[in-house]
Amino acid sequence: MRIATILCLLLAFLPGTAAAQIARTEWREVFSPDGTIQRVKLTRTPADAPAPRSVIAAADVVPIEVNGPSESRFDLVFVGDGYTSGQFTTYGQHVRSKFAEIMAIEPFRSHRTQFNVWQVNVASPQSGVDNDPYGVNRNTAMDMGFYCGGIQRLLCVNETKAQQYAAQAPDVDQVLALGNSTTYGGAGGRVATASGGNAQSGQVAIHELGHSIGGLADEYEGGNRYTGGEPREPNVSIYSRETMRQYRLKWHAWLGQATPDGGVIDTYEGGYYYRYGVYRPSQNSIMRTLGRQFNLPGREAMIAAFYRETGLIDAASGASTTLWVRPVSSRVTTTWTVDGHYAGQGNALHVPSLRLAKGTHTVTATVTDNTPWVRDPALKRGSLTDTRTWSIGG
Ligand SMILES: [Zn+2]
Repeated sequence: MRIATILCLLLAFLPGTAAAQIARTEWREVFSPDGTIQRVKLTRTPADAPAPRSVIAAADVVPIEVNGPSESRFDLVFVGDGYTSGQFTTYGQHVRSKFAEIMAIEPFRSHRTQFNVWQVNVASPQSGVDNDPYGVNRNTAMDMGFYCGGIQRLLCVNETKAQQYAAQAPDVDQVLALGNSTTYGGAGGRVATASGGNAQSGQVAIHELGHSIGGLADEYEGGNRYTGGEPREPNVSIYSRETMRQYRLKWHAWLGQATPDGGVIDTYEGGYYYRYGVYRPSQNSIMRTLGRQFNLPGREAMIAAFYRETGLIDAASGASTTLWVRPVSSRVTTTWTVDGHYAGQGNALHVPSLRLAKGTHTVTATVTDNTPWVRDPALKRGSLTDTRTWSIGG
C-alpha cells in the first residue's frame, strides 16, 4: 500500500502529464471457479471519482477482532458495497465468513493474534452490485460491478472510494471490498474484491494477502520466455536448483523438502507470467491456483513479514523489581540474560531472586519465534527476534 501511494505521488508529479487526460492502464487478476488465475489489462479513464465527505463521515467502524494496538498489528479492513443500512447483519456475516476462511489457512492460523479486523459499515442506497445479472445497474456506495473489462467474474470497485471508507478504521494495512452478491467473483489489485455471499470467493483475499503482506510473486504462467534479471520476490527465480544450492540463493534451504501444497520444493519451470526461463518453488501453490496452500518459501516470507509489521513485543517494563515483556503472540519465547549469562525463560524476571552481586548489571530479554517454518538465518535474526535491555543495580 505504501509503495502504491508513492507510485501515485510520483505519477502526479511527472512533468507534462495532465493526470485527467491519461488513460490509466491497470492490471487486475481474474479468478476462475476452478482456481486458475489470469491477469487482464484494464484501460480506465478518467480516474475513479471520490465519495462525498458527508457520506464517508457517516460510515461506522465495527471491531470484528482486535488483538492489540494497531501500531503492532496487521489491520485488515473490510468495506461492503451494495448492502443497504437494513442489510448490515448480512454484511457482518459475510465479513466473518471471509475472515474465517483466511484464518483457516497457514500461516494465518498460527499467527491470528497478529491481526486486527475492522468492518466499515457503508450504507448503499440500493441492494446488490452492477451487472448481477448483466445489464442491471444499481446505485451503490462504491460502484462495484461484474463484467469489469468485459469479463463476467471480474468484480471491480471504485478503489478511491473503497480506500476513503477504509480510512475510517484506526489503521489500514489491506482493504478487502465485499460486494453484496452470491455470484462467484473477485479481483486482485490495490483493493482486493470478493463476492460477500459466495463461499469460494474468500480465496481471492488469501492470494492477495500473499502479494500485499508477503511480497510474493504470482506463480502462474502467461506469455513466452522470461529474459529479465533475477526477480526480487522470494518465490520466483531464474536460478537452477544447482545454482541455488551452490551459492545459497533464494529457496536453497527448502530444496527437497515436502511442501504443504503437495510434492517437494524444487525448481519448476513457469511462473511470474512466463512459461519458460523462470522457476517457482512448487508445483501448485496458492500463488498459482486458488484453494491451495502456500508453499514453504511463501510461508516463510509471510511469517517474516507478519513480524516485520507487528514486531514481537507489545510492551515491556523495567520499572519495578520484576522486569517483564508482553509479546505479540504466545508463539514466541523470552530468554533472559544478566551480563550475558543465562538467567531464565518466561515473560517476567524477578530480580531479587537472582541474588546479584553489588554493582551495575545489564539485563536483556530476547524475544524470538523459533518456528521451523522460517529457516533463513537473516530472517530469524532480523525479523523474528527482538530484545529489550535494562541497566539495574548500581
Ligand atoms: Zn496474484
